[in-house]
Amino acid sequence: MDYLSLKFIEPYWFSFVDYWGEDFLITYGTFIAHEVFYFGSYIPFFICDFIPYLKKYKIQPNKENNMKLQFNCVLKVVLTHIFVQLPMMYVFDPAIKASGLSARAPLPSIPYLLLTIICSFIIEDFYFYWVHRALHHGIWYKYIHKVHHDHASPFGITAEYAHPLETLILGAGTVIGPFIFSRDLFTLWVWLGTRLYQTVECHSGYDFPWSITNLIPFWGGAHFHDFHHETFVGNYASTFTYLDKVFGTSSKYYSRQQIKESRKHAAQGKSE
Ligand SMILES: [Zn+2]
Ligand SMILES: [Zn+2]
Repeated sequence: MDYLSLKFIEPYWFSFVDYWGEDFLITYGTFIAHEVFYFGSYIPFFICDFIPYLKKYKIQPNKENNMKLQFNCVLKVVLTHIFVQLPMMYVFDPAIKASGLSARAPLPSIPYLLLTIICSFIIEDFYFYWVHRALHHGIWYKYIHKVHHDHASPFGITAEYAHPLETLILGAGTVIGPFIFSRDLFTLWVWLGTRLYQTVECHSGYDFPWSITNLIPFWGGAHFHDFHHETFVGNYASTFTYLDKVFGTSSKYYSRQQIKESRKHAAQGKSE
């Protein structure tokens, strides 16, 4: 058996495609997959709010995200998904199909799938950094991006809580990678699931030391993006830290980290 191949999944995937039909899966299947990945990523973090032991991992422990706030946010996000994202998928449907996206293409090898995911993260992060930074200026912020900043202490579901135009503008960066590297629906869905988990985790309000993403070099994570929501400045990248470091937009974040660390050491010194 070739462990670097996804051939063992292929028969199940193709019978799934035969059952639902390629056209249905590309449009509505992608929408449903998006909902499943998005809410599936959010629910574990939502449950964390009911576990007192985990409170020590909250980035802003004094900010309570009550049920009313969460419910309002879920409602607005669901309405945006149904009345903005779904029609958008419908409008772009012919262009997506004309681009050659297929559900019947042979599945990629595991190394190629990983390469696609890594490169898609790098491309999306670069696009997101510059567009997000631009969205913090003048009328762009006032009329579009301010909506996403309604929540100064974010929680999972706030990831896609945004103005419809922002959904369109920033969402474009998500599809560049998979379309450069592949035209198969399977890869697109795997990427969608990975990217949605990343953005929900990044808005979760929790910084768990055991998170597997801590092992990835230059990974920003929840702590990094939470600072952006709390202070409204700097840390513009979606995934990695290097662009903010290179362009000097994370200096406030790192100096606050340094102050926190030295206070912690001073307090430890006193107690000894
Ligand atoms: Zn912002
Ligand atoms: Zn955000």
